Amino acid sequence: MTLNPLRWFENRPIRVKLLFGFGVILLLMLIQNMFNYLIYTTTEQARQTLLAAQDEATMAYEISAQFQNARGVMADASIAFILEGLDTAVAYYNGSQTHGQVALEMIDNLASGESELGDTGDAEKRAALAALRANVIDYDSTIGLLRDAAAARGDSESRLGGDVVAPLREINEVFDAEAALTWVERYTNSVSQSAVLEIPKAFTNLQNDIEASDLSDDEKARLKDLLNQSRTAFSVLLQNDFGLFEKLDKMNTLSQSLIDQINDYVADRKAEQAEALEKQEDAQARRERYLPVMVGITLLVSILLAIELSRRITSPVRSLTETASQIANGNYDLRVENTTGDEVGRLGASFNVMVEAIAQREAELLKQTHELRIATAKAREAARVRREFLANVSHELRTPLNAILGFSDGLLMEMYGALNEKQLHKTRRLRENGIRLLALVDDILDLTRIESRRIELRPAPFSPGHLVDRMKQQMKSLADEKSLTLDTHLDPNLPDSLIGDEQRIEQVVVNLLSNAFKFTDQGSVSLAARAQPEQNTWLIEVKDTGIGIPPHAKDIIFEEFRQVDGSSTRARKGSGLGLAITRNLVRLMNGHIGVESDLGRGSTFTVTLPLITSINESEMTVGTSPELDSAGAVDGG
Ligand code: ADP
Repeated sequence: MTLNPLRWFENRPIRVKLLFGFGVILLLMLIQNMFNYLIYTTTEQARQTLLAAQDEATMAYEISAQFQNARGVMADASIAFILEGLDTAVAYYNGSQTHGQVALEMIDNLASGESELGDTGDAEKRAALAALRANVIDYDSTIGLLRDAAAARGDSESRLGGDVVAPLREINEVFDAEAALTWVERYTNSVSQSAVLEIPKAFTNLQNDIEASDLSDDEKARLKDLLNQSRTAFSVLLQNDFGLFEKLDKMNTLSQSLIDQINDYVADRKAEQAEALEKQEDAQARRERYLPVMVGITLLVSILLAIELSRRITSPVRSLTETASQIANGNYDLRVENTTGDEVGRLGASFNVMVEAIAQREAELLKQTHELRIATAKAREAARVRREFLANVSHELRTPLNAILGFSDGLLMEMYGALNEKQLHKTRRLRENGIRLLALVDDILDLTRIESRRIELRPAPFSPGHLVDRMKQQMKSLADEKSLTLDTHLDPNLPDSLIGDEQRIEQVVVNLLSNAFKFTDQGSVSLAARAQPEQNTWLIEVKDTGIGIPPHAKDIIFEEFRQVDGSSTRARKGSGLGLAITRNLVRLMNGHIGVESDLGRGSTFTVTLPLITSINESEMTVGTSPELDSAGAVDGG
């Protein structure tokens, strides 16, 4: 199994993808900062080196100054030696040594890192400082020797000089040694070069003179001994003086080499300084060159990463949304393509499952709808056939029924001869049943006409007050017959004139009142007309204190041929069409009918009709077809 990293990444949750993006950006920023830091440290190192080299150079200058001073002191000492004698020169030598001591201390400081520079670094530098130091020590010790030699020398009156002069003075007391004495004194006091050459000759002449003199042999021997003492002392003095000159010469060379050395050291430090400066500038330049590139790369990668990540995250969501909206438009064959392992992918997969289920249900629904349509069409057709059948049958029944009624009227009027009591009774029953049958046939005809919209409403102005009064009069005999009271009420808020098909409204009221009287044995029946201006409607309310309607029957009584079953109803006769006709008429007038009832206590039927006061309004509210009701009735029955 090979692992495809891109595929692997796609299957990670969005959280991981985002973390990855941030991680890459952070890493880049880290690299950038490290680079920055590296350059910074290089610059800082170069700066430190620069400072150190500067300080060292300054110190080296100071050391150099010490030696320049020492050299000056030496020169002074030489002059003092000639002009003021050796003691003063010795003092100068001591001064020169002080300068050497100070320089030595400074070098030691520089080498040991005790100066503020810290450890001054590389081996080469250390070696240079060590050589310098050795040289200074050499210089110091030479100065010491020089000083000792100078101190040992003295002049014609003291120390080595005195040793040379004193024996000659003793000789001079008894024998003329003036020539030698003069040269020796000159030399011991001022180191005269000519004296150096003349003194050996003077010593030889003096010896010869003593030999040739007429002095006693003892005296000659004593004087020669004194002369030898002076000679020996002179050779010691000469040696000392040679050493002195030699050392003076060495001092000069040493001083010069020290100064050269220090100058070299300073030059080295200067070179170091220049190098450090170059390094610093280099680092700075690199920083200026590469930093924008680094920042640019970081920015570019961040932007690209952000775009790519957001594309990876949002584009599946967008395609999911697009697919969803297309599916919502009914394209159930579509499926979400992205089903990667992240959240959106999983959402897509679940979405596909859901679409599958919806598509199945949709197909089922379509099938059902199709079946339903066929059933509805069949039902409509059946209703139409039934209506036609009923209309035809009723029509066909009316003619023979009218004939039967006519014949029974003729029989009762004894147009075909006299009838006995029993015949009269049966003929009356025949007529009564004929009339009931005719009423039933009329009702059926009426219902079929309303259902097939073969009746037309004729809206016209009418007075609701007159309607109520007329009803009261019309029902009076029925009320009297059953010893019931009939109360009427007319809402004063109701307009005097309303627009409507008065004849049809009357038919509705008659139906309701007839039922009220039919199903009430004691108490009262009331008829009320009320206005409902807020709803723009008016009400006709028929209330009775009769047998009432059980809750389960409240809806079915409005269907054709449906009655609340039971002996009481059956005892009261009826076809079960009255309320069906009433409801269809009310609907035709854009109203509705409802019933409230308390079983055993009475019922209230309420018809709500639109409140129309001008003909123009009535035109806007044309009655709707009660066709569906007939279909419903078919369903129900
Ligand atoms: P019919 O009265 O000819 O039977 P209707 O359609 O007028 O037919 O009424 C249907 C049934 O509704 C009645 O048979 C009766 O059971 C019930 N009904 C109607 N009006 C009332 C009423 N006022 N009180 C009690 N029952 C009623």
